[in-house]
Amino acid sequence: MEKRANIYEGKAKILYTTDDQDLLIQYFKDDATAFNAKKKGTVDEKGIMNNAISTKVFEYLGQNGVPTHFVRKLSDREMLVKKVEIVKVEVIIRNRAAGSLCRNYGVTEGKTLTSPILEFCYKEDAFNDPLMNDYHITALGIATEQEIAKIKEITFKVNDLMKKFFLALKIELIDFKLEFGRYKGGIILADEVSPDTCRLWEVGTGVRLDKDRFRHDLGNIKEGYQEVLKRVTGS
Ligand code: ADP
Ligand code: UDP
Repeated sequence: MEKRANIYEGKAKILYTTDDQDLLIQYFKDDATAFNAKKKGTVDEKGIMNNAISTKVFEYLGQNGVPTHFVRKLSDREMLVKKVEIVKVEVIIRNRAAGSLCRNYGVTEGKTLTSPILEFCYKEDAFNDPLMNDYHITALGIATEQEIAKIKEITFKVNDLMKKFFLALKIELIDFKLEFGRYKGGIILADEVSPDTCRLWEVGTGVRLDKDRFRHDLGNIKEGYQEVLKRVTGS
């Protein structure tokens, strides 16, 4: 697979075209940002760990019938993916209260929710990724009703599968963010699934194994990612 032009550099990843127009190389960087890039830093080898963790999660989801952009892992920091047209919404599922749910609604961190909450945010850094609902999405032409229905269906399925996947590793899936894209007439899961995009707490101790260590200066940031990697790869 030939790596060609850098077509996009984001906060955590770079996308390159390839000799196949349907495929991109997704390169994982060590850069870390939080609070809409107001906080910036780097975590040594984060890109390598997130690429490996995302690979395992995408493989597992794919084996369980979830359509994803993942094709194969190419190297330590590179993954081959299907090139999609990203739907400009971030899809969040919350199983327990954390982060902005606590800030926005005065809920105590860690409160168990009686049912999962699905949130949509407009994927637009310039506007601080504001919360939006189905009506915003259709009225603004961001996605169709059918696409939203598909996205919700896949997202709840991913939640069920990922809760099981992590629980088997003694990790509780608190919340996570997904991105979807249009590919050959359908909707598929894109981007990454990693401790950058999920809150992962160790079962029993509640120890944070995710980007909250960076967000809130909890220390041993790299070790959190390493612990998830170790459990996910079984090594
Ligand atoms: P950001 O854009 O928020 O800074 P990243 O640094 O993670 O985020 O950049 C990766 C970008 O690539 C994101 O904007 C994401 O929506 C986009 N993306 C993820 N998967 C694909 C894909 N398969 N095809 C096209 N774009 C993708
Ligand atoms: N999330 C993400 N990217 C974003 C916003 C949120 O990956 O741009 C993830 C985040 O890691 C967490 C979940 O989505 O697992 C919910 O995040 P929240 O809204 O609580 O945001 P925060 O408190 O981090 O601002």
